[in-house]
Amino acid sequence: MRIDIVTIFPAFFDVLGVSLLGKARSSGLLDVRVHDLRDWTHDRHRTVDDTPYGGGAGMVMKPEPWAEALDAIVADAARRPTIVFPSPAGEVFTQTTARELSGHQHLVFGCGRYEGIDERVFDYATMLGDVRLVSLGDYVLNGGEVAAMAMIEAIGRLVPGVVGNPDSLVEESHEDGLLEYPSYTKPALWRGREVPPVLLSGNHGAVDAWRRQQQLERTRDRRPDLLG
Ligand code: SAM
Repeated sequence: MRIDIVTIFPAFFDVLGVSLLGKARSSGLLDVRVHDLRDWTHDRHRTVDDTPYGGGAGMVMKPEPWAEALDAIVADAARRPTIVFPSPAGEVFTQTTARELSGHQHLVFGCGRYEGIDERVFDYATMLGDVRLVSLGDYVLNGGEVAAMAMIEAIGRLVPGVVGNPDSLVEESHEDGLLEYPSYTKPALWRGREVPPVLLSGNHGAVDAWRRQQQLERTRDRRPDLLG
């Protein structure tokens, strides 16, 4: 999978060099390219923002550098990409979104700052790729970088080969609409707290039934909205 990221803060994405995604990059499973939006400005101050038409607080990202950045990325692409703009006004990102996007060959993330990107950029981008405005949740971040990072990690780990044991992806929270069951490791007794005895029983059927029950109870207690 190829992932292009356009941002005015490329350093945010340095962490993509570590852990599982870092390994996936080294091995070629993920081809991640981080671009500085200011490289597509043409003034001495490398300006990417301007005052909003109609007045109001804050600045808006200018359309010209965005169009040039997207043009350049798409000109160099083997196929029509999916262009994701992180936005608090977009569809909410879920595990279903992550799974769907993990099947795409080429994703482009456009990270907004200030009050956001000139609205016309989203329309222009539809000529270059399939555009998605995607929110990390119902709160407002300073920029799209942290949202893009979270999405890239959630998507990237679903790309075949990125996580060593594919079974560990299947049993996780949200994969079957429920939260995951609790996990324990050694020692069996730790600071007066015991591991549930069924997990030490060796009875796989009983373990499965206990885990399923825990999933249902947790989901009911913590996220009843998931049960519909
Ligand atoms: N004025 C915008 C609004 O009210 O919808 C918020 C702009 S926010 C300060 C700047 C940028 O942060 C946005 O363009 C977007 O890229 C990103 N952002 C903020 N909150 C986000 C969220 N919940 N999910 C995804 N991106 C977010």
